[in-house]
Amino acid sequence: MTDSSPPIRRLADWDHDELAGLADEYGTPLYVTDLDRVAANYDRIDDAFEGIECMYAAKANTGQAVMRRLLEEGANIECAAAGELHRAVEAGAEPNTLQYTATNPPAKDLDWVVDFWETDAPELTVTIGATDTLDRLEARGYDGRIAIRVNPGIGAGHHEKVATGKDAKFGIPHGDVPEAAADAAERFDLVGLHAHVGSGMLTEEDLHAHRRALERVADAATVVESEQGSGTLDFVDVGGGFGVPYREDEEPLDLDAVAATITETFADVDARLKVEPGRYVVADASLVLTAVNTIKEAPEATVVGVDASLATMIRPAMFDSYHPIRNVSAPQRAAIPASVGGPLCTSADVFCTGRPIAEPRRGDLLAIGNTGAYGIELANQFHSQPKPAEVGLEGGEASVLRGREDYDDLLHHERLR
Ligand SMILES: *Cc1c(COP(=O)(O)O)cnc(C)c1O
Repeated sequence: MTDSSPPIRRLADWDHDELAGLADEYGTPLYVTDLDRVAANYDRIDDAFEGIECMYAAKANTGQAVMRRLLEEGANIECAAAGELHRAVEAGAEPNTLQYTATNPPAKDLDWVVDFWETDAPELTVTIGATDTLDRLEARGYDGRIAIRVNPGIGAGHHEKVATGKDAKFGIPHGDVPEAAADAAERFDLVGLHAHVGSGMLTEEDLHAHRRALERVADAATVVESEQGSGTLDFVDVGGGFGVPYREDEEPLDLDAVAATITETFADVDARLKVEPGRYVVADASLVLTAVNTIKEAPEATVVGVDASLATMIRPAMFDSYHPIRNVSAPQRAAIPASVGGPLCTSADVFCTGRPIAEPRRGDLLAIGNTGAYGIELANQFHSQPKPAEVGLEGGEASVLRGREDYDDLLHHERLR
């Protein structure tokens, strides 16, 4: 059904009248998430990665509707926190298909996960990134499936804050993996190796680093298979990190080339292969609608004050991320250099500076594009901003996925009222 879905979806491709109608009905700032596009993105990457299992890394967007739709498309879900496992089960995931990647896991998460394994999910896979997590699991009575996260010593991605592959926090140094695997095989059911090199890989340079990192993972897998027996590893999971074009002049990732690289790199490894994209599946399926409140002429640019803020969508402030912005009320107007920012009293609260945008006027509706990954997932209440509402589009129908918070929600957990 989705063979022909275009690999890139731009803001101009959204139905502007429909967006205006949604803003009228549900208010702004508003996340609009196209669940059909989520499915199309998943199907495209799943098709390209033929012979490689394509899971979904939940943390990019743990929306119940997003996970439910991906489960319907046949995706298994990778979770990186106990809360994500809980959300995945609530969305309908079969517990035994889940994979839990433990990064410095809090005791409470391990308690929850071991209880979950005992009562509901005997086939759960727990991926560890430190050998002491093995001790902590054993102390809780766990002897189930274990995968070992490899730190390849090489990272990649759009920002140093997401290049996990060379950060000591993540995984076991590749040279130490055979020893950790021998230990894990003795005490648990060792089933896999795992690596996640970074996020937002798009450039040649990223892909080159990815390839070198995967070679180290393949070397580790070869050693483990020769020492522990070739049937030991059920899978090698090479993580996610596949980038999408955020800027108008960027080209989409060549998925076939990436798939070929992975397959070739692991040609001598018996274990089956998995990937777990997050961003790629959801990024361009969602946008933020925001209303223009204030226009101020400054010497450098026109300052456009909108009702979305870094509490709505923090990626520009946190990762210096570029997000396309379009005046969906009047895209035909001549562009002027505009600095778009929110109502928060911090200079980090800007979405763009001096960028050409079709002249915004008070009351216009702007769309901020590609907000599906790490967008609503990172929404917060800083500056006493209630979290925004989210509307889903599916089969031509719109429905509320998350209601808008109000000022009482800001005080929900405070006890001195
Ligand atoms: C975040 C994460 C992913 C997904 O990364 P994307 O860049 O969103 O594809 C996959 N695996 C692990 C372990 C992660 O932490």
